[in-house]
Amino acid sequence: MIDESDVLICLGSENDLRENHGSVLPPIAQASLFQKETTAELYNGLRNENREFVYTRGTNPTVKALETRLAALERGESCKCFASGIAAISAVFTGLLEAGDHILFINQIYGPTFQLADMLKKFGIEYSFVVGDEMAEFESHLKKNTKLIYFESPGTMLFRLVSISSIVNAARERGILTCIDNSVSTPLFQKPIEMGIDLVVHSCTKYIGGHSDVVGGALICSEELMEKIFYSSFMLLGGIQSPFNAWLLLRGLLTLPTRLRQHQQDALEIAKYLESHKKVKRVYHPLLCAEDAPLFKEQMSGYPGLFSAELDVRDFEEMCKVADAVKLFRKAVSWGGVESLVIPSFGGDGDVNFQGIPKNLIRFSVGLEGVDYLINDLERALEA
Ligand SMILES: *Cc1c(COP(=O)(O)O)cnc(C)c1O
Repeated sequence: MIDESDVLICLGSENDLRENHGSVLPPIAQASLFQKETTAELYNGLRNENREFVYTRGTNPTVKALETRLAALERGESCKCFASGIAAISAVFTGLLEAGDHILFINQIYGPTFQLADMLKKFGIEYSFVVGDEMAEFESHLKKNTKLIYFESPGTMLFRLVSISSIVNAARERGILTCIDNSVSTPLFQKPIEMGIDLVVHSCTKYIGGHSDVVGGALICSEELMEKIFYSSFMLLGGIQSPFNAWLLLRGLLTLPTRLRQHQQDALEIAKYLESHKKVKRVYHPLLCAEDAPLFKEQMSGYPGLFSAELDVRDFEEMCKVADAVKLFRKAVSWGGVESLVIPSFGGDGDVNFQGIPKNLIRFSVGLEGVDYLINDLERALEA
């Protein structure tokens, strides 16, 4: 179920009719700088660059309109948008951590997030991670110098859930910050800040944009944490969202509730179809995972179009043949757009990779072509 108030936020129903001649979408403020009447006003603006329009590397009206809607959807005090999801994640790590600090990752994590943590080792930041059955005992992986718990729920590739309330309780007792990557659920299906999480990051490239035409990211947190990040990593690393891309994301929000409802319905039907197919060993979809049912009920109100399946095939080559045989599912990275996508996961040695992701796993992002067409396509490909 999607909250009515969220639909109204996505549609920009709070628009002030006196602004911008009542334009239903905010205009694109394609400007790098904003002039003031007096020097005093300019200097006043420079002291408040996170709120005032002075220079677009800090704040821009179109980007701000998007930030206002994303903060409202996540029920957070403050939002800043970034050039990409990974730029938002970089800002959290570099803005809040120092040499000697430790990050604990919980659940399967988007690969480049790990690569970023690896890169930060040269600045003295260390990390470790916990996946699978061990997640129940994540507290024993916390260290004296753990400053941040960073997690995904649902996690990458296997879409397993972790208990947000357990993470919040363990972190609060110890004064550790918590950050979730909420890209898969979107704020329409999961509200981590309401459950006590400190920071939420998004790859807006995925469902929020929804049309495979823009790369973007967002961070939502308290004013206090944002103040720290704004004057360090945000302004100084400079990975900002452009006004035009922010406008595309505002347009994406207009159809987000409708797209998610359709993705949810079609993907679940396809996942169930695959689950019953003899060439499929196992389907990884939160709504088809009995172990995660209690957590799903506790922390999510729906689930969109992303899942994976372990095929009963000999090797990577055979899996790629299946992927090539489906015609309506395009072979591409990323996910969350209107076109269905398929991507076989790793073809390396061993039965599982370092994050416990099994081989012969294929990931589906179900688009909006229509569920019957997609199932027919899969049927044909799996028969071949
Ligand atoms: C794609 C992705 C990201 C990174 O986002 P970009 O916009 O590509 O930088 C982060 N987290 C998850 C879960 C993703 O799928």
